[in-house]
Order: sequence, then C-alpha cells, then structure tokens
Amino acid sequence: MPTTRADAEALDAADPLAHHRAAFYLPDGLVYLDGNSLGPVPIAAVSRLGQVIAHEWGEQLIRGWNDAGWIAMPRRIGDKIARLIGAQPGEVIVTDSTSVNLFKVLSASIKLHPHRRVILSERDNFPTDLYIAQGRTHLLDDGHALRLVDADELPAAIDGDTAVVMLTQVNYRTGRLYDMDSLTQAAHAHGALMLWDLAHSAGALPVNLTAAQADFAVGCGYKYLNGGPGAPAYLYVATRHQPHFSQPLSGWLGHASPFAFETEYRPAESIDRALSGTPPILSMSALEVGIESLLAADLQALRAKSLALTELFIHLVDERCADLGLRLLTPRDPAQRGSQVSLAHPEGYAVMQALIARDVIGDFRAPDILRFGLAPLYNRYVDVWDAVEALRDILATRAWDRPQWQRRAAVT
Ligand SMILES: *Cc1c(COP(=O)(O)O)cnc(C)c1O
Repeated sequence: MPTTRADAEALDAADPLAHHRAAFYLPDGLVYLDGNSLGPVPIAAVSRLGQVIAHEWGEQLIRGWNDAGWIAMPRRIGDKIARLIGAQPGEVIVTDSTSVNLFKVLSASIKLHPHRRVILSERDNFPTDLYIAQGRTHLLDDGHALRLVDADELPAAIDGDTAVVMLTQVNYRTGRLYDMDSLTQAAHAHGALMLWDLAHSAGALPVNLTAAQADFAVGCGYKYLNGGPGAPAYLYVATRHQPHFSQPLSGWLGHASPFAFETEYRPAESIDRALSGTPPILSMSALEVGIESLLAADLQALRAKSLALTELFIHLVDERCADLGLRLLTPRDPAQRGSQVSLAHPEGYAVMQALIARDVIGDFRAPDILRFGLAPLYNRYVDVWDAVEALRDILATRAWDRPQWQRRAAVT
C-alpha cells in the first residue's frame, strides 16, 4: 500500500482516467472532496450555456421549443442517464427535484397496491426521502404509514402489507452500499414494489436497474452527475409499470396531448406521464454537459478507481491518524462501499471547518460525521494524500479548537 505523497503521485501518473480531470474547472490548490454534494463545473458547460442563451433563447425565442429541441430534452437527457443506471431507452425522464419525484413515485406505488398500507424504509435514510413519505401518508390520512427499520432488518421487515420499499442505494452518512439485486428480490418475494434512490450511486459506480428488475428509481442531477447547483433530477419507471403509473402532479406536459388543451387530464402513453410542468432549459443544458462528461468514461474503470481512492483514504487514516479520535463509519469491505469515506469525530463540525480553511473541502453531517466524497472522474490520489495529511495535522495540533470553527452556517 502506498504511504508517501510520491506514491500517490505515481498512482496518478498511471491512472487511465486522469485525463478526465481536465474537463472540469477546479480551482488551483483546492482539494475538492464534496462532489457527492455538488459536482464541479464541466468546462464545456460554460460555452454550451452561452450558446443556448445567445443563439437558442436569444435568436430563436419561442421557436426554440421545436427548433432547438427543448421540448425533447427531458427524454433525451433521460436516455443518456439510462446508460449510467442500466435502464432502457424510454424508462428515464429528467424533471423536477428528487424530492418531488419521490412524491410522484410513492403516490404511484400506493395506487398500484391500494390494499397494502406500508411504505418501508431505512431509519437512517436521507431525511427528504422520509419527509416526503410522511407528507404522502399525511395527505390523505387513508391508513398508510411510513415504517422505519435499521438497514439490516429491512429484508425481514417486508411483508404482505408492504406497498413499496424505498431505499437509497448508498447511505448518505456512512457510504454503505446496499445490494440492489437481493433487496429488490426480497421486496418482490412479498409482492412489494422496490424504489431505489440513486443520489449517491449513479455516476460513481455502475448501476443496473434492469438486471435487478427494479420497479422505480429517482436520482439527483447535481452530485456525481455534475449538473450544477439545483440541477433537475430524474425518475425511472420500468417499462412494465408505465401503463399503470399514475401520479398526482398531473400537469399539462404529462398529458397525452398537451397542445390539444383538453379539459380532462389524459396521461401520456410513455414515461412522459411523469412530467408535470415546463422543463428548465438552461439547467437542463448544463446537466446534459455533465452527463456527457461521465459517458466519456468507462463505468467499470470509474468504479475500480473509486474503490482505489476510498481504499487509499482508509489506509492512510489507519496508518497516519491512529489514536487521533477518528472512527471509520464506512465499510472496509469494498463490495459494501459506495464512493465516500465517513469518519466520526466528537468535534467533527469544527474539524471540517478547519479543513475547509486549508482548502480541503468535504462536508459535515450531524451529529459528528466528517464526509469525504471521492469522485473518480476528477479526483486524484494526491487529493486523498493531501486531505488525510491536513486532517492529521489539524487533529494532532488541535487546530480545530477555535471559537470561529464552532459557528454553524446555514448549509453544512
Ligand atoms: C441529495 C439527496 C436528495 C436531494 O433531494 P432534492 O430534492 O434534490 O433536494 C434526495 N435524496 C437523497 C438520498 C439525497 O442524497
């Protein structure tokens, strides 16, 4: 195992994916390990957005919907995302936020299983997923409930009353990767539907929704897909469910014939029925560039590098930060690891602020978690080395122990 900075440099020199880093704007001297919260700017997005604004919006104006293909963007970009997540053309659409899409899919799942009352999820799932499920159960007060269990209890908790199992494939806190195939099978064995949230997996590791026979999925555009702050999200509906997929945000663009301006809602025959309103074309254009930069790389190679980066991070923490109060939360077993390393420390918030002040950017998740996302498309082995070295120094010298590192900002 490499232990010096020169070793890390040698790994970068031999990295077959190293050239992809040049496709991104990354400020000099910055170690950016937060691509799992917000990916960096793909350099091509700057000219693409300039072009869309000047030539499409500027010159074509309303004609852009047809002539520049704007109206087709949710499907076109959806088909590109499909290649990242093992879906078929026509199964993925780009629209709204992950939260809103969860609402649509949970509602559709309940419609498909009207006599089953439970939405089942992991207690430690990302809060918006849980909040949206709570919002859905409160909406109609019709006997539905969100049931939460620990991840390891999930398979055993699925029963004949489970309408849908909702799980994030990589846990946002720990970085633990769940087995998509076996959990989907466990849901199906009880006749339940399986909804995967791919926010922390798509773009960082190969996902195969088709092989797993997943029913539904949602995911995020601004993390590993590098679509920009607040980028549109996406939603996957397996082809077999599309004719029966009925979602309550039945806006005009989900209509079978939006420009017939009919009085009655009739859902589109395709995944388009998951749409509600008008797509944000500037944001979509940026997202498309981000996805194209991922599609330029081999997903298996990305996964191999992601694991090598997290492995190196864990090894260096073991070796250089022993007895400094850190506790590894991320599984050591690579088969159970997503693309991040999470470390608990009682002063985690202050430690992360001190790291950020040294231009090492990760993030903090309450109550005590230091989170480092490793994006194999642009992160380097030296980034890992530099981050662990800064962390070691901050802990060894107690540099975190200053009042200014205790003040909490609105976004952590
Ligand atoms: C980031 C993330 C979201 C984000 O939802 P938004 O609606 O885009 O704010 C949802 N779920 C998970 C698991 C996430 O990690």
